[in-house]
Amino acid sequence: MNTTYITLGVVLLLICIVLYYVFFMAKEDFYKYTKDNLYTVPWQWEWKKKDIINLECHCPTCNEVLVYENDYLLHKTYFLCPSCDSQKAVIGGGDSKYAFGIVRREINRKIRTKEYKELIPKV
Ligand SMILES: [Zn+2]
Repeated sequence: MNTTYITLGVVLLLICIVLYYVFFMAKEDFYKYTKDNLYTVPWQWEWKKKDIINLECHCPTCNEVLVYENDYLLHKTYFLCPSCDSQKAVIGGGDSKYAFGIVRREINRKIRTKEYKELIPKV
């Protein structure tokens, strides 16, 4: 009798762990969302818990990491490719801090609206 209860307890605990794991994995699949085309250029980033880190944009032509230039007068940030020697994107509204901020916001918005699910590789 005693061992039956212990076995039942262990089995229930295992089921709980498995369910938690499945639920957790299903919920957190935004970790697979690490690249997207935003503001006409491809962006890549990594996840550290819920924070976006190492956010950078690449040249759509040669995949070089783009450099940025602030225009404090017109409140714009230009993204330039050093290899192609041309401007690839421009984000209006502020300096590069602001530009990276709105890209982060756009990424988080797509996670909230589940739009990212269309952009990650299917299992
Ligand atoms: Zn380029």
